[in-house]
Amino acid sequence: MRIFNFSAGPSTLPLEVLEEVRDEIVDYRGSGMSIVEMSHRSPDYDEVHRSALTLVRELFGIPDEFDVLFIQGGATMQFGMVPMNLLTEGALGAYVDTGAWASKAIGDAAHHGDAYTAWSGEDDGYSRVPGPEEIEIRGGTRYLHLTSNETIGGIQFREWPETGVPLIADMSSDFMSRPIPWDRFDLVYGGVQKNLAPAGLALVIVRRSILDNAEQDLAAYFRYSAHVEKGSLYNTPPVFPIYVMEKVLRWMRNRGGVPAMETAAAEKSGLIYRTIDESDGFYLSPIDVASRSRMNVVFRIADPALEPRFLDGAAERGLSGLKGHRSVGGCRASIYNAMPLEGVEALSEFMETFQSQSVLA
Ligand code: PMP
Repeated sequence: MRIFNFSAGPSTLPLEVLEEVRDEIVDYRGSGMSIVEMSHRSPDYDEVHRSALTLVRELFGIPDEFDVLFIQGGATMQFGMVPMNLLTEGALGAYVDTGAWASKAIGDAAHHGDAYTAWSGEDDGYSRVPGPEEIEIRGGTRYLHLTSNETIGGIQFREWPETGVPLIADMSSDFMSRPIPWDRFDLVYGGVQKNLAPAGLALVIVRRSILDNAEQDLAAYFRYSAHVEKGSLYNTPPVFPIYVMEKVLRWMRNRGGVPAMETAAAEKSGLIYRTIDESDGFYLSPIDVASRSRMNVVFRIADPALEPRFLDGAAERGLSGLKGHRSVGGCRASIYNAMPLEGVEALSEFMETFQSQSVLA
């Protein structure tokens, strides 16, 4: 039996995709072997690899002047690779500190170049993203790094700050959930294990021209240009997540692509936020309304003593993964692209029932 899985990542994938994988995993299209058993230079895998690259480009509307790269090491390795490649002598990296993931990106950048915090939400308890006028850019800044969606804190940039420097964004937890104005960005990266695939792969989209001035004195795997030159086959790629992602992308295309994912995300998250806002203070959102994430809805129960019962009752109804991150507590519903509306409706109904039962008790 399938339940509704609100886990923050790895997270729910489309059932149709899992079923197709199940049907193909032992004998890939009459080859007599699994896709994960064959050479990554074989024609069968090559077709999957190219199709995945093409679909990312097509669905995300990526212009020709960008390259799409598949790199192992997750988003975490990109925290290092971005400054390694781009913070050459004299260049500064500006970072917006919106919470747990942004802080990690800043910490790693400081190992590889001159990185500074251009705005921090720490004093506000990371409850909002900044407006452009609040971000302090210094002379010599090469890029402004944003965490487009803070998976743990539940805040999201709805508008991209205009500060005069190119943007770089970690989109791990809202990848392909809305169209992107590519002219504003030099590089976008993220782990795929929320909206796109099983874990084991980072998707990196990089403006080709910025690599001309990138650092060359790096081990090959850390150089973006090495991945560009080899079409993301510099070494053995993570075949399984790429293979599943190709299917997820086709699933997305059949449903209307990224614009349809954006509409669905607004509808699904809107339902849970409405349930919170109309609960007369029984449920609380700690997030500024304008910064509320459409992917990770973070909320609390005003009486925290009720939370264990809430989580147990939800699990009994097949609503799993609702416990907030251990660093912040509370509850969190992660509503990625593959979460059906019915899952969110079931959660909203349960929240209302739990409230009325708790008030009566
Ligand atoms: N950035 C964000 C916004 C994330 O949510 C995560 C993972 N939850 C990471 C980075 C780290 O990703 P990975 O585990 O792929 O290294």
